[in-house]
Order: sequence, then structure tokens, then C-alpha cells
Amino acid sequence: MNRFSDETIVAISTPPGRGGLGVVRLSGARAIEIATRLIKLPKLPLETQRATRGAFTQEDSGRVLDQVVVTCFRAPHSYTAEDVVEISCHGAPIVLRYLEECCLAQGARAAEPGEFTMRAFLNGRMDLTQAEAVRDLIESQTLYQARVAAQQLEGSVSTRLKPHKHVLLDLIARLEAGIDFAEDDVAVIEWPEILTRLDQISADLQKLVEGYEYGRIVRDGLTLAIVGRPNVGKSSLFNRLLNEERAIVTPIPGTTRDLVAETANLGGIPLRFVDTAGVREALDEVEKIGVERTFSAIADSDLRLLVVDASTPWTEDDALLLEKLRPLGSLLVALNKSDLPPPAPEVAPGFTGCGKTLQSCHPERSEGSRSAYLPENAQGQILRFAQNDSFEAFFRSLFSPADAAPSLGSGQALKGGATILVRTSALTGDGIHELKEKILALAAPARDIAPEGEFITNLRHQQLIKNSLAGLAKARQAAEQQTPHEMLLLDLYDALRPLDLITGATSADDVLDIIFKTFCVGK
Ligand code: GDP
Repeated sequence: MNRFSDETIVAISTPPGRGGLGVVRLSGARAIEIATRLIKLPKLPLETQRATRGAFTQEDSGRVLDQVVVTCFRAPHSYTAEDVVEISCHGAPIVLRYLEECCLAQGARAAEPGEFTMRAFLNGRMDLTQAEAVRDLIESQTLYQARVAAQQLEGSVSTRLKPHKHVLLDLIARLEAGIDFAEDDVAVIEWPEILTRLDQISADLQKLVEGYEYGRIVRDGLTLAIVGRPNVGKSSLFNRLLNEERAIVTPIPGTTRDLVAETANLGGIPLRFVDTAGVREALDEVEKIGVERTFSAIADSDLRLLVVDASTPWTEDDALLLEKLRPLGSLLVALNKSDLPPPAPEVAPGFTGCGKTLQSCHPERSEGSRSAYLPENAQGQILRFAQNDSFEAFFRSLFSPADAAPSLGSGQALKGGATILVRTSALTGDGIHELKEKILALAAPARDIAPEGEFITNLRHQQLIKNSLAGLAKARQAAEQQTPHEMLLLDLYDALRPLDLITGATSADDVLDIIFKTFCVGK
């Protein structure tokens, strides 16, 4: 029996506004009765899981308001495991609202948000992870996100956790049996076996916790700040990146007024591009505040793209920006305007083309301004720009070789210090594809290796798994010290409980079930 059998709920299940179709959904013991009172149907009773045409009429006049299609799902074979009726109307909001009111007048109650899914959960139709996946699926902005949510709706998180829960339960059951039935010949579980099992569970749970870094990105998307001095081609690159991708209809609202932000679907991940126009040395106080705000937005973004104009010499502003961006984590650098010829070395400030640094040519600039002006490599050496160097080769020499390759697959690539250079032309489109690949490689390094059902996307799940790991660590310590089984059991329950909160509870009956099924205790 379900716990809501006396309450039938109703809601308009389609989004507000006019549409081709609009659906009113009823769930509960009186759903079929209410629907059949309101809709004229060719024959009764309603066939289950079949669509039946009917007419919705105005109560007082008996006049037809809409031709509808009624679909009936009888308990327990429905979304909520209760009787469910879906009345599909033409999507006129006025008719839908009137139909809903008629259902209320017949004794239904207006459903709370999410109540259909909550009933499905409470009635055992789905576990918590699946209920949460329904919400993620509805909110998905890309097909990739939808696919991940759909996998979770099919129970991928629970499927992944179930074997671990089973091992934990088995351990608990055997230890409990050893205590409760000490005088019987219950096989005692050996310490090494306990340790091995605990380690196996911990290793896999740890992987799941680490996978969340990627899962979070898949679920929430991420922000990429496009930074550079004026006229280097930031807006042009921003537009290129957006135009080539399908812009997402509902952009995540911007946090800073001064910044232009749009969201695009990059390889299935919603990527919010922020064009940080006008980052330069502040001239007055007001501007200073603006620049500070822009920099805090840059620091808050997940990934940064520094755009430099590869057709003009490296400038003091470029050096300043680079200096500010590098400590913030991984950095993409677009050497833009690559369709234009590179600057002649002899006119490049900061390096004179004579094989000498600016410092040696202009000793008066050697103190104080040096770090803000002259390019240095990661070791702090001032770089020389020789006649036969290309701009790109010079630029590459700014970074140590270790910078060049991000640690893909670690889930930490965003936080790492990798710097990736890409030659682009916002004008011709050259290098844009490569730039997108590099963004994806940094943003979602696990994308190619993690199948949809293999990672968690939910912070609640991650925290509970961490709690479980803490319990497992305590259990491991207890097992190493061979503490009495009663004490070890407390830690094992601490490890099991958080997993229960993810997937649904383990009742005392589950433990007893295993005891009696697998041990034949009592003879
Ligand atoms: P922002 O101030 O950094 O946003 O720069 P814009 O995107 O407004 O570009 C400044 C100027 O450079 C415009 O005239 C663009 O048409 C031009 N521009 C941008 N990218 C390229 C490029 O890759 N090649 C060439 N030749 N011109 C470019």
C-alpha cells in the first residue's frame, strides 16, 4: 500500500504559456474516477497504458471546451506507482487552468513542486539518486548533460554503489552473527580478509569522489574569462567561439554588470564565456574599482584565456596581464591575428632584435619596471629575442616545458599550472577548432575516458561518499589494531549509513536477511 492512497494530486505538468499541447496530470487513488467524471469518453473503464480520445466539457453548459487524449496508468505500473491519469489538451493556458480547477473541485489537491517524483520515491518506484536525476534531466542544457542524467535515472549511481553496500552488509552480517551466535559454529571472519575488503571499497569510493570534479563541470558547466589588452581580438574570438557553437537558450545570469557573458555548448558542456573588455591600468579611482571587479571575476572563473596580438610587439600590458593570470591556475593563450605577419623583431619593445634585452639597451629601465615590462621565463630569466626567432618561438620560451602539458585525467587540470598556446585568427577562423579542443581538454579532461554512468555529478553524493570513506578509514584502523568486533561494527555502520542516504535505507531486516540466508544459523 502506498502512504498517500487517500490524497489525489493534480498539476499542469507542461510549462506555463501557450503550446501545441498541455498536460494535466493526476495521481492517487481517485485519479481515474476524477478524470472520468470530467472527460466524456467513448467507453469505460479506461484501458490502462492506452491513449483514449475524449471531450472536456464546461460543467454548466455541457459545451465542449477541448478535444483531449486521456492516458491512464494503473498502480503500480505508473510513474508514481499510484493510479495516474494524464489528460493531454491543446495547450491553451485558460483551458488547462480550468481543467485543473475542475479536478480540485472534484476533491484533488494541488501538487507541491516535485510531488509526483517524491511519491515515486516514497512508493519505492525510484531511489533518491534517480529522483535527483529527474531534476537534472529537466534542467539539462545540453544533450550530453541529458545523457548523463538519463543514466543516473536508470540507476547508474546506485548500481555503482550497490556492490560496495553489499560487501559492507556482508561484513556486518558476519560480524554480528559471530557476536550473536558465538556458541554456534559460525565461521569467524579473519582480519586480513576484513582489511582487503575495506581497501577495495575505499579505493573505488575514492575514485568516485575524485570523479566529482568532472561531474560538477558536466552538471553546472563552467566559466571561461577572455582577457587581453584592447584590440587584440577578444570580442572577435568570443563571437567566433559562440557563433560556431549553438548558443544556449537560457544563459546563466551574469554576476558582474561590466562583463559580457554568453553560454555555449562546447562538447556537451555548458561553457560560459566572459568577455572582459577594458582590462588595463586604471587611470582614476572609479576606473580602478572597475578593474578590480573585473579581476575578481577573472579570478572566480574556472579557466582563463589570455588573448595576445601576435602581429604586434609584446607590450608592458601583455606582461602585466600574464603576471596576474599565471598564479590563478591553468592558462590558455591565444596568439591571435596569426593571419597577419608577425612583428619585425627590431621594433618589438622588450627585446631589441640585436640579441640584447631591453635592459641592456635601456639601462635606465632596468630597476623597478623590469618585472612589469621585460618578459621572463618561469625561472625568472630575462629572455632574449634573437633576430631569427619567431614571435611564437619567443612566446613559447616564456614558459618552461613543464608548463606546456596539462595533467589530463587527474581532474585537477584547471587548478594546475599548465599554459597552453594556440595560434588563432578570429578573422579567418584558423585555430578556432584547436582552441576549442584545448579548452575542452583543460575544462573536462575526463570527458573521453569517463563513460556517462561512471561519475557522480551531485555534491550531496560526493559529501556522503566522503563521510563513508571516513567511516571506512576508522574501520580500517580498528581492524589493524584488532579491536573487538563490537567496536569495529560501529565504524562499519558509520561507513554504511552515508551510502544508505544516497541510495535508500538498509533496514535491520536487510542485515537479518543476509544472516539467515547465508549462514543457516540455528540448525
Ligand atoms: P578587443 O578589443 O580585444 O575585443 O578586439 P576586437 O575583437 O574588437 O578586435 C579589434 C580589431 O582587430 C577589429 O578591427 C577586428 O576586426 C580585428 N581582429 C580581431 N581578430 C583578428 C584576427 O584574427 N585577424 C585580423 N587580421 N584582425 C582581427
